[in-house]
Amino acid sequence: MSAGLQDLDHVYIELTVKCNLVCTFCDNSMRNLYRDIPPERFREIVDQLKPGTRIGLHGLGEPTLHKKIVELIGYAKQKGMYVYFNSNHTVTREEQMQGFVDNELDELRISMSAGSREAFLGYAGKDLFDELLARARRMVEIRGDKQKPLLRAIFVLTNENFRDLPTVAKNAESIGFDELQVQALLDWGKDGVVDGKYGDLGSPYAENIDAVRAVVAETIAAKRRIRIVLPAFVQDGVPPPREPGGCQWPFNAMWITSDGHVTPCCNLHDPRQISLGDAFENRIEDIWHGQQYSEFRSDYRADKVDACRSCPVHYGQFKTYTYSYEEE
Ligand code: SF4
Ligand code: SF4
Repeated sequence: MSAGLQDLDHVYIELTVKCNLVCTFCDNSMRNLYRDIPPERFREIVDQLKPGTRIGLHGLGEPTLHKKIVELIGYAKQKGMYVYFNSNHTVTREEQMQGFVDNELDELRISMSAGSREAFLGYAGKDLFDELLARARRMVEIRGDKQKPLLRAIFVLTNENFRDLPTVAKNAESIGFDELQVQALLDWGKDGVVDGKYGDLGSPYAENIDAVRAVVAETIAAKRRIRIVLPAFVQDGVPPPREPGGCQWPFNAMWITSDGHVTPCCNLHDPRQISLGDAFENRIEDIWHGQQYSEFRSDYRADKVDACRSCPVHYGQFKTYTYSYEEE
């Protein structure tokens, strides 16, 4: 463990950019751009991190398509890491689910952004909604009375799907998820979003914000057991921070692509757009304290990074979750 990585609390190590779906809100231009991470490279990176680092195994692909995922989880867990990942869970195999439990994966976050087959097909491009529900149920069964992994459903809130939220909450509850997280949409910083657009309350849902809040209220009212995690902007009475500079990624987190490029965050995840170093060639500590990273942090502090100026995280409107509705 390096003393020089005390600030680095979150490391995303992308296992693959392969995916069996083509979600409308995903950066599908990344698909198959490079290969799965070689297991020995993964282990070399993990060996350099401090115990307790939160390691996310997802990137721009479906982690369960990496053939060695269970082995890699086991390795990181043995090294004392907190391990979790997002999955579309439509192709997760039985032995993988068992492996998640046996290796005490900390969290499994399963995407559930539709309440019907038609809606799922509409955003994911494949008719796998029933498969998703069946595999989610199976995951709950396999976990049984064990504590890990914590099972969290993720609902990516869009202007198209927000009316599905109550149904998704009902499904997640009946399946046996522990939590449902409603996640704000991130647009990957590539569409030339007008500077400061995300500084406005509720944007990109501004036109629908009252309807979104009504749907959230309906969902909360109907919930029985599941814990619901909400972004602050949908909660009445919680003014969102509008000042730029709210992002912590440059100071405590790192994104590593499955071909070894280090980028600042999940939004700036494309090494063709920005790369702060090569984790296969250089030590993480050297990259973290290197000139490129330092310059990026300085530019961020000075509000000079264009991609950040069009990013909701910069204005505190993405990872600003609160556990407002605790289990009864
Ligand atoms: S399942 Fe995830 S990685 Fe695959 S297309 Fe959808 S959002 Fe992208
Ligand atoms: S503000 Fe957005 S684009 Fe900039 S570092 Fe943070 S998450 Fe990445």
